[in-house]
Amino acid sequence: MDLPVGGFEKLSTVDWPGQLAAVVFCQGCAWHCGYCHNPHLIPFARAADGPAWPKVLAWLGRRQGLLDAVVFSGGEPTWHAELGEAIRQTRALGFKIGLHTGGPSPERLERLLPLLDWVGFDFKAPFADYAKVTGRDDGVPARRSLEMIRAARIACEIRTTWHPALLPDADLQTMADSLADLGCTEWVIQRFRAEGCDDDALRRHPGGNVPPSVVRHARLRVSIR
Ligand code: SF4
Repeated sequence: MDLPVGGFEKLSTVDWPGQLAAVVFCQGCAWHCGYCHNPHLIPFARAADGPAWPKVLAWLGRRQGLLDAVVFSGGEPTWHAELGEAIRQTRALGFKIGLHTGGPSPERLERLLPLLDWVGFDFKAPFADYAKVTGRDDGVPARRSLEMIRAARIACEIRTTWHPALLPDADLQTMADSLADLGCTEWVIQRFRAEGCDDDALRRHPGGNVPPSVVRHARLRVSIR
């Protein structure tokens, strides 16, 4: 088994808030978000210098007791059939498991849920309008994935990268209302950061502010980072 790894971070305190975690960046993503900070992770072909999974696993084996957790990120990790076995091998070393996902593959996610301790769910756009951010009309599977995570009662942070050119005020309002309707109580809006983004128009855009009706949503606690 060889999970395609595009990058590996040995220590992070931000990828799973509150945990000392190593982060495995899986190579490949079928979406094309204009603000992507890791466009080198979008192609499914692994870079020649990407670390091999067996080496990553061996390194993790030498960090037992020194790290709390391992986060599988991307790219989009759930595109890979090898992810489940990689997670099982990592759990066997005693690490808690976090997953960053946008939920494009609920069928695969369903099999992973019993192996997960925490999910960072990337909520991209109004479910009816996913293609405007991701380039693919995948709002239905994304919504199904979020419903499954919630039904499984796995700790989850729902977060959205926000650029006003991609998600104007009405979209943010629709997204907030959708989350509240699903029973979610918290939402993290992450402001667009230009580092790593290769879209000139997004980088040059003057920005904006999240509308007060979203910040002070009646049924949702909204944080802005
Ligand atoms: S889902 Fe993530 S990795 Fe894929 S294109 Fe969007 S921001 Fe980049």
